[in-house]
Amino acid sequence: MTGFVEVRPYAELNAFVAAECRGVASRRPFRPHQTVKDVAEAMGIPHTEIDLIVVDGEPVDFGYRPRTGARIAVYPVFEALGIEPIERLRPAPLRDPRFVADVNVGKLARYLRLLGFDVQWSPTAADETLARVSTDDQRILLTRDRGLLARKVITHGLFVHAVDPVEQVVEVVRRLDLTSRLAPFTRCMRCNDPLVEVPKSEVLDQLEPLTRRYYDDFRRCVGCGRVFWAGSHHDRLVTLVETIRARV
Ligand SMILES: [Zn+2]
Repeated sequence: MTGFVEVRPYAELNAFVAAECRGVASRRPFRPHQTVKDVAEAMGIPHTEIDLIVVDGEPVDFGYRPRTGARIAVYPVFEALGIEPIERLRPAPLRDPRFVADVNVGKLARYLRLLGFDVQWSPTAADETLARVSTDDQRILLTRDRGLLARKVITHGLFVHAVDPVEQVVEVVRRLDLTSRLAPFTRCMRCNDPLVEVPKSEVLDQLEPLTRRYYDDFRRCVGCGRVFWAGSHHDRLVTLVETIRARV
């Protein structure tokens, strides 16, 4: 037996649904065994993007099975609509700014590290691994793969809409409200390890004569051992950080 429900997606969630379903309550086919999570995902909305579902005026959880004819409102993560008093679907806040990035957003991972964020990334990570790291290590999964976000075990995930890597960083920083947590040049872009201050005397033998002469503050990556100083930050990277700062 097939019935129907009326579904209204709010704010950014409209980007996931077909044009005719955007910004309006639209009628969707519905079978009695389906949960509200099933209904939303059938429309193309990953459950990790959803923070609140209201059915006929009452907030419900993902496993709720609506009756036919129900009116379902679906709200995105971080959308402020005066719904704060209502209990949200997230088991814990998503604002812990540690990440695991999908294979398809490697540049985003490097740029977030440049801004100081802890981002695990491997060019060969399987979906299973990404899901497990996200869950076990409480890292927000960044991906452009909706299928991956549909996995039940993932509670902390973010679908990245932008295609250009700089736009992607701006999107993530904005959506998670991370502007106050930017700490550029404190983490190695290559290995994700923190940079720690080292006395000049310890790195003298690794420096060119001019660097030795003009710079006094040095940092070293605890992972790969590379030494950084103000002048070693390629102009391009400084410009990149400034561009991102101006946009967020
Ligand atoms: Zn390193």
